[in-house]
Amino acid sequence: MPALELAEPDTLEEAFALLADDEGARPMGGGTALMLMMKAQLFRPAKLVSLRQISSLSGFSLSEDRTHIRIGAMTTFSALEQSPLIARHLPVVTQTMKTLANVRVRNVASVGGNLAHGDPHLDLPPVWTALGASVRIVGAAGERVIAAEDLFLGYYETALVQGELISEILVPVRPDWHFFYAKVTTRAEHDWPALGLCVGLRAEGDRIADTSLVLSAAVDRPTRLTGAEDVLRGALLSDATLAAAADAALAEVHIESDGRGSAAYKQHLLRVHLARAVRHIMQGSAGA
Ligand SMILES: Cc1cc2nc3c(=O)[nH]c(=O)nc-3n(C[C@H](O)[C@H](O)[C@H](O)COP(=O)(O)OP(=O)(O)OC[C@H]3O[C@@H](n4cnc5c(N)ncnc54)[C@H](O)[C@@H]3O)c2cc1C
Repeated sequence: MPALELAEPDTLEEAFALLADDEGARPMGGGTALMLMMKAQLFRPAKLVSLRQISSLSGFSLSEDRTHIRIGAMTTFSALEQSPLIARHLPVVTQTMKTLANVRVRNVASVGGNLAHGDPHLDLPPVWTALGASVRIVGAAGERVIAAEDLFLGYYETALVQGELISEILVPVRPDWHFFYAKVTTRAEHDWPALGLCVGLRAEGDRIADTSLVLSAAVDRPTRLTGAEDVLRGALLSDATLAAAADAALAEVHIESDGRGSAAYKQHLLRVHLARAVRHIMQGSAGA
């Protein structure tokens, strides 16, 4: 078996040099997804470049103007889960952690590794997308900031190219919006979802003033349901509106059958959970 080299650079520049033009080198966050893929012999990197020692990739904070939260790529899920700052400004992230994997995984899995993995079943990518987050991508040639929804190109496919790293995610703080993530599993609640749905709403009385809907797991990447958003935007909450929004959602996505359920079953789940999540938020925000 060929030897596997582990590098632990202290700076981004060292990491870029280790990753540059080397197809056999892979960055490593918490290593939880990488180890599973290596065990399954899906790939065999020659070199793992751990990002753990790079201090600029750690930590998270509210911006001075309080408009967004910056979360470093090496922030662990446990750090987010236990943070009063996140619970206060991004409660949907705290909610999502309750059924995400287990504490051993959450203690090491990183925000950047989770985004870069590109698995459509992951719980956080639809949440970041609905929240309107942006991702900072850095490399030897410079940096770019893209919308989270533009990072995901397909099944395990992202917009990252060899040598690029995610350095942070920037999440807007929008106090007048409310979010809910529905993780719909067919076995245990911590299992991989058959369907993930993140719903964001800004309500004005009984009217849905604005909305952001993102479907995952049943599709090949986190997908904005823009047709359904158009139906809900400006509408009064009613059974007819919710049914029309579900019709629009089902018309704009292609849902595949897999081991977690048939396409027809998942279409039914989408209809039920879209209505439930919108009602849940509207009822909660009425008293907020
Ligand atoms: C037992 C188990 C149960 C799980 N259950 C769930 C669940 O219920 N819900 C859920 O959402 N997830 C679940 N997961 C998946 C888990 O969320 C991912 O494995 C984890 O988020 C990946 O993060 P990581 O830091 O460990 O990534 P790594 O394994 O380190 O890396 C993953 C990929 O990202 C690349 N990478 C890492 N960091 C960066 C970076 N900063 N920039 C660019 N590329 C990078 C790596 O090269 C690799 O390709 C589970 C995992 C396990 C092992």
